[in-house]
Amino acid sequence: MSARDLARRQLIDDISDFLLGNDLEISEPNLSAAFGICSGDDVVLARSVTERRSSGLPITQAWLDEQCRHGEDAVSRIADKLERSLESFATTSRNARDTAAQYNSEMQVHVDKVSEAEEFEEIRNLAELARAMLDRTKHLEHEMHRSEREAAKLRSNLAKARRDADHDHLTGLPNRRAFEGLIEQHYRQAQQKLEALSVAFCDIDNFKNINDTHGHDTGDRVIQAIASSLAQISDDNCHVARHGGEEFVMLFRGTGKDEAKQRLDAVREAFAGRNFINRRTDEPIGQITFSGGVADVFAYASTGEALKAADIALYAAKEQGRNRIVAA
Ligand code: GH3
Ligand code: MG
Ligand code: MG
Repeated sequence: MSARDLARRQLIDDISDFLLGNDLEISEPNLSAAFGICSGDDVVLARSVTERRSSGLPITQAWLDEQCRHGEDAVSRIADKLERSLESFATTSRNARDTAAQYNSEMQVHVDKVSEAEEFEEIRNLAELARAMLDRTKHLEHEMHRSEREAAKLRSNLAKARRDADHDHLTGLPNRRAFEGLIEQHYRQAQQKLEALSVAFCDIDNFKNINDTHGHDTGDRVIQAIASSLAQISDDNCHVARHGGEEFVMLFRGTGKDEAKQRLDAVREAFAGRNFINRRTDEPIGQITFSGGVADVFAYASTGEALKAADIALYAAKEQGRNRIVAA
């Protein structure tokens, strides 16, 4: 075996030792975390694992999730800092430019007057110097203006990057990452105010058939159509996000699972009553349906457990024949 093959095998062994040894699920985020730790790609996480091990505490799923969230927080902290720096640069530069502009116009009046006083050669020389100085500060003023415009553009790019990081391109809905933030925030608030909180998973029925029969682009449009139907019931207390693929996740604040089920069922029924047509070929697609599972968040130990329960309820809805909403 070549040295490269040996190293690769060792990496795979280390990743599986890490996951199996700590009794962690073989999931996408865990595999990605394990890769970061074992390959040394994620220095911060690898160090946390070493410290955790040496303290004799177990590496649990909850602990790992917490560490991975911190990583995301770090990026957002850097973005915050950058935004503040850009803001303060823009203010400083604007002030400097305003001062320079004021000083320039006052100076200009004097320089013009002095230049007219022909009899004093020394003064004329001084005026020449002052004029050269003026030209340079005018140029600087112009450059500052340009830098301010660039800083403003950077800030708007940064704001856009932040929006993009939280949104799904295809549907414009918040993505899974953004949903995780939303659910934690609403969980804390609902817990404090003793309000109900429910979550739901929705998944398009037999979506593979739609893709296979009508093509991926049509499949994409179906995802968009369901996204906009679900978004119609969303407001400050009801959030919908694209969890990935053809799956959506929802959060209902101040709403127990039975009412959440009813609200989602109304969307399901309206959607199932529509007749779709393949825009490209004009062929009928016919009825498109989705199934959903709903769970009361506070009936479980954590938001993660509640989401798992909603996912199990979704699976039950599929088993029972699809095109229905099941409460956990
Ligand atoms: P079920 O009723 O059991 O959910 O059946 P299904 O066919 O929907 O099953 P499954 O969830 O396995 O299939 C999902 C398919 O969705 C597989 C994948 O190719 C497709 N898919 C995932 N993301 C996208 C996407 O962004 N666009 C399109 N067009 N297809 C996608
Ligand atoms: Mg699916
Ligand atoms: Mg599906």
